[in-house]
Amino acid sequence: MTTTKETLGFQAEVKQLLHLMIHSLYSNKEIFLRELISNASDAADKLRFEALSDPALFENDSELKIRIAFDKAARTLTITDNGIGMSRQEVIDHIGTIAKSGTREFLARLSGDQQKDATLIGQFGVGFYSAFIVADKVTLTTRRAGLTPEHGVRWESCGEGEYTVEMVNKPTRGTEIVLHLREGEDEFLSDWRLKSIIRKYSDHITLPIVMKKTEWKDGEQVPTDEDEVVNQASALWARPKNEITEAQYEEFYKHVAHDFEKPLAWSHTRVEGKQEYISLLYIPSRAPFDLYDRERRHGIKLYVKRVFIMEDAEQLMPAYLRFVRGVIDASDLPLNVSREMLQHSREIDAIRAGSVKRVLGLLEDMAEHQPEKYAIFWQEFGRVLKEGPGEDFANRDRIAGLLRFASTHTDTAEATVSLKDYVGRMKKGQDKIYYITADSFAAAKHSPHLEIFRKKGIEVLLLFDRVDEWLVSSLPEFDGKRLQSVAKGDLDLGELEDETEKEAHKRAEDEYKDLLEKIKTTLGEDKVREVRVTHRLTDSPSCLVTGEHDMSIHLERMLKAAGQKGPGVKPILEINPQHALVARLKSEADEARFTDWAHLLFDQALLAEGGQLDDPAAFVKRLNSLLALLK
Ligand code: ADP
Repeated sequence: MTTTKETLGFQAEVKQLLHLMIHSLYSNKEIFLRELISNASDAADKLRFEALSDPALFENDSELKIRIAFDKAARTLTITDNGIGMSRQEVIDHIGTIAKSGTREFLARLSGDQQKDATLIGQFGVGFYSAFIVADKVTLTTRRAGLTPEHGVRWESCGEGEYTVEMVNKPTRGTEIVLHLREGEDEFLSDWRLKSIIRKYSDHITLPIVMKKTEWKDGEQVPTDEDEVVNQASALWARPKNEITEAQYEEFYKHVAHDFEKPLAWSHTRVEGKQEYISLLYIPSRAPFDLYDRERRHGIKLYVKRVFIMEDAEQLMPAYLRFVRGVIDASDLPLNVSREMLQHSREIDAIRAGSVKRVLGLLEDMAEHQPEKYAIFWQEFGRVLKEGPGEDFANRDRIAGLLRFASTHTDTAEATVSLKDYVGRMKKGQDKIYYITADSFAAAKHSPHLEIFRKKGIEVLLLFDRVDEWLVSSLPEFDGKRLQSVAKGDLDLGELEDETEKEAHKRAEDEYKDLLEKIKTTLGEDKVREVRVTHRLTDSPSCLVTGEHDMSIHLERMLKAAGQKGPGVKPILEINPQHALVARLKSEADEARFTDWAHLLFDQALLAEGGQLDDPAAFVKRLNSLLALLK
């Protein structure tokens, strides 16, 4: 056995990588601690595993832990573990070499652009070498479990191309890493700073991370002899479900979601096999104030093997499920996975797809078995879920099944009707799901467009959320039934209309042909595209509709209100020949009065829609002149 100190050269790649890493990862330097803690935790896992077949490896010390200590005077930071440790050869193989395939190719891809390189280096995984971001000398002393104390190894390097190894006496097994901090890195000589980094990144490392308790003496915080466990030392999600109480699930939710309230529901799943991950996903019971803020952060925390990787990992949940909170812990990702990498990761795509299905399943279950809870959910997050059909084509039908609407069946503003309920109540001969969009519940409920539907007892969904126009544009059908606006196209009730009605309609069309032409000429092309006899109205004299494939009047108005220009589709004016006003117009001989009536028919249809008149004063003037005719 050699006892002399040997000086060895780093593998060329290591040298290059070290140099790049120190520069490009500097902006996120605190991660070195996470990396070293993670290695220590792995070493503990390995020892635990080997000790399964050889318990003597524990050397009467089976309480595995990680210790973090600092020495202000010496300006050192020390990370100690009692894990598996390393033999001399292991130190040379693992610490002086990058045992990864593709290292050369990887280095060739580096561009010199710091930001891009930082991402690449992050993907590659920097591990132990990240110590050199903050240290200009690293001393690692280790002894493999099971070997005698003289088999201790000391490795030391300034990260410049060379390292030394010597054999030392090390009574305790495991690894101790002393970081001699670079000039200006004194922030890591702070009890508070270290503890906050540990809590941020390693709270759920299953191993206890201990530091000395401190006390204040002469205005200085000094360590005492007492130990303190800094992290929670237990990853709740990694525990078996039957060992976790409801209260623990709820407490954990409050912690991850920063919420004071209990969650509405959760789903805890361990996926095994080709891909391994654990997900613990929560539905909150109240919407956060910034739910509609486009810049807002997402609520999923990503862990890799219990090590916290990043917060608000938007790649893990689509925008329409942005209210979901929780943790996904993947086994197959590198610890240094970056956001950029998540975007192109097949593993992440699969995890995301699985998680979406789980959330939808959770909601379906709630809707079916706990309708009161589901009503709370819908009240808080329904509008966000409505973004789903437009965003997630693959799950469109499942999302559609979760939607709830107000309808003429209940005639209340409460959204309680599902598309399935609707389909179950469809009339014999009805083949479409009818809806109306409007600015408010009242405008929808009282729209003249509903008259014929009410008369025939056909249910119509009342849509009055801003997002509804967008929703129906991305949800053409449900359960094989087309969604049809009652304010669009030439209403064809098909089998719902009987023969006498059809005949009456045909007769009216012939009878009113000249009148329709005359109204159209009077109003002019820039007001109406067409004037026709209605199928829709029973009580009102007139209404406005658009073509089947045109933008709805309601949506065009919303765009205008938002300062955008719509396509400027001209509406179709439909008139009701049964109405006294229309009969009156038919026999009106006075041209000026005819013009007033025609405009009145158009303007009141627009008002009934919730629209705004171009010239309100002209409307009032016309109305008054016609009222004055009353005797
Ligand atoms: P990675 O952890 O990605 O393999 P590192 O550079 O961080 O890369 O570590 C290289 C290797 O060094 C580890 O795989 C492990 O075998 C060994 N090692 C690092 N730290 C420790 C430790 N605290 N105890 C035992 N072995 C360690």
